[in-house]
Amino acid sequence: MFKLDNLGDGVKAIVFDRPDSPHNFMNEDIVAQLHDLVRHTSSDDQVKGVILASNKASFVVGGDLKELQALKTPEDAAAIIAGVQACMRDMELAPKPFVAAINGLALGGGLELALACSYRIAADDPRLTVGLPEVSLGLIPGAGGTQRLPRLVGLAAALPIMIEDKQVLGEQAEKMGLVDERVPADNLRETAKQRILDSTASSSQPWDQDGFKRPDPQLSSDDGKQIIDGMLAKIGRKKPGLEPAPEAIMTAVQLGFEKDIDEGLKIERQQFASVAAGAVVKNKIRTLFLGIPAASTMKDRPKNVDPYEISSVAVIGVGLMGSGIAYCAALAGYKVFLLEVSQEALDKGVDAIAKRVNGAVERNRMTQKKADALLANLTPSTDYANIADVDIVVEAVAEIREIKNTVLKMAAEAVKPGVPIASNTSTMPITGLAGSVPNPESFIGMHFFSPVDRMKLVEVIKGKKTDETTLARALDFAAGIRKTPIVVNDGLGFFTSRVVNSYSGEAFTLLAEGISPFLIDDVALKAGMPVGPMTMADATTITLLKDIVASMSGSGERVGMAGMRMTEALAKLVDDYGRSGKAAGKGIFDYDENGQKEWPGLAECFTPMDPPLSREVIEKRLLHPQALEAVRALEEGIIENPIDADVGSVIGWAFPAAYGGVIGYIDTIGTRQFVAECDELAEQFGVRFVAPDMLRKMADKDEAFYTD
Ligand code: NAD
Repeated sequence: MFKLDNLGDGVKAIVFDRPDSPHNFMNEDIVAQLHDLVRHTSSDDQVKGVILASNKASFVVGGDLKELQALKTPEDAAAIIAGVQACMRDMELAPKPFVAAINGLALGGGLELALACSYRIAADDPRLTVGLPEVSLGLIPGAGGTQRLPRLVGLAAALPIMIEDKQVLGEQAEKMGLVDERVPADNLRETAKQRILDSTASSSQPWDQDGFKRPDPQLSSDDGKQIIDGMLAKIGRKKPGLEPAPEAIMTAVQLGFEKDIDEGLKIERQQFASVAAGAVVKNKIRTLFLGIPAASTMKDRPKNVDPYEISSVAVIGVGLMGSGIAYCAALAGYKVFLLEVSQEALDKGVDAIAKRVNGAVERNRMTQKKADALLANLTPSTDYANIADVDIVVEAVAEIREIKNTVLKMAAEAVKPGVPIASNTSTMPITGLAGSVPNPESFIGMHFFSPVDRMKLVEVIKGKKTDETTLARALDFAAGIRKTPIVVNDGLGFFTSRVVNSYSGEAFTLLAEGISPFLIDDVALKAGMPVGPMTMADATTITLLKDIVASMSGSGERVGMAGMRMTEALAKLVDDYGRSGKAAGKGIFDYDENGQKEWPGLAECFTPMDPPLSREVIEKRLLHPQALEAVRALEEGIIENPIDADVGSVIGWAFPAAYGGVIGYIDTIGTRQFVAECDELAEQFGVRFVAPDMLRKMADKDEAFYTD
């Protein structure tokens, strides 16, 4: 794992080089090995100084996620982190300098290792990035980061790095004093050696020296208070306890910053232990760091199908979704044939793509050369004869069955047999749509999300007759355009639309019952949703929502929709009051140049409930139905694994990652408790809250969906 290199003149280098991974990351055993080397080199009088270096392209990227995920108790977490802190503290207290030679990415424990060195040199590489992203795992920097970073760069720079996962490029890191200097990469170790020999690198840290003055602003100064209050206000946008890590980082900083370093490290250890073994860490690691990467590497692709070479794609219907899909396909280097109903619609679609491309150039995200090549990849036309040789077809015309049937039939007649034809329908069962093509085995659903260029998720839906080759080919296309798929079985609304519908349906039911839309949105935001459902509905337009709900209602017998008042609320808003959404300036809210405000006519439209329901009940009514509907989809076999539901919900509609997703939400509450809460809701608000049998059986046995 480590090599001890002799660089001559009494300088040694501890070189980290994990044999089993492209990156260096640490675990308990590796820290123990490093600690031995630290003790050995510190006590050897022949050694004048030690360089910490990496033989990988990156420096060190943090800790072992599996080890972190397995932590059972706060005591386990405290024991592990105590070992890491002791190793780093021994580096600091050694009677000789330890110098970090940061050759590349230094994240989490990697940056903390560098912070425990008394001198840090980074390679002069414009991509070199450092950061403390523990918070994104639900953790806090526990290897001294919360104490050393603010003491080194000050509160104003340190807090966003730790609390908002603001990663910093090398140049910026040098400016803020996080690294002492940057040198060409091939000079890194040599310069580090020189800094030891010419005593530029001190043998002690500033905070271990007499008269150490912390960088301004001080915690108790007006400026310091302002920084702390600003950060606390940001954290306070979510309800207390939902994301314990930012709160714990603030506590570690507020209690530790003015203490001596050992006292500060002790406080950090306690804060680390208080969060590290908790559900949020397990949820986030499971979904964000294991589930999403597994989906992105196409875990559900049938192994027996040869890789599909794709060079050209046809997109039918170049409206909002089609233009986004075409943009992503052209960006991936595919030749893209665009088909529309008229030349006018075609021009509009091409304009939309060109706008996106030009925007990317203006924001320096794309070179002009790449932009020109991308636009040259587009072939707009209204003639299906043009798509005879394409490798895949994606249909994204309006959600009207007759139109879809017509274009799908024309596409199937135009392309070669076996070429996958995918529909981007958001609600219509794929098996039914497959009836319009002669080869239903080559037909599949690929449900993208808006805006397509930014949303990673694609829900891939297998119709009853879809064959494995088509699934594999659709997934190869998803991989080509860098999307993260979940593969689901067919049914009305598949997985994502039916679960999202249960959420917006309940939100509109609350509105119809007379709950203020401001309160509904605020509860949703505090619960961790990025946008409130009322604001969201106004943005997507109430008219569109009305159409979606109509096509989602099916036979109307779905238990998850029983008693919902969404259809009634939408009809009232659109038909009786002419409220179509934000674009028209009038939706659930009024809009003017200052943004959203109250619509004075709301009280007449929906008589206010007085007193309103409690925030707690509103929150349960917004989140529980999503989890219940996901379990129904699991029970019906629409979705095959809990993790697919969780990945889909977190990247599809930003269900709070602190829970891991809609299913992780149930585990976090506990199945028994969740079912008890549903029973209460069912009694008060109707059968749509009745827990499915599968869940009730699990609750009776105290079973969880996940065992990590
Ligand atoms: P849109 O109205 O923006 O685009 C539809 C396009 O289809 C229009 O450009 C229209 O000219 C074209 N079209 C109509 N008839 C046609 C024909 N006969 N031949 C070729 N083109 C024709 O709609 P959209 O929002 O892009 O939705 C398209 C599909 O994507 C729908 O099935 C919708 O349910 C689905 N979808 C939409 C969203 C969303 O957020 N808007 C998300 C996921 C899926």
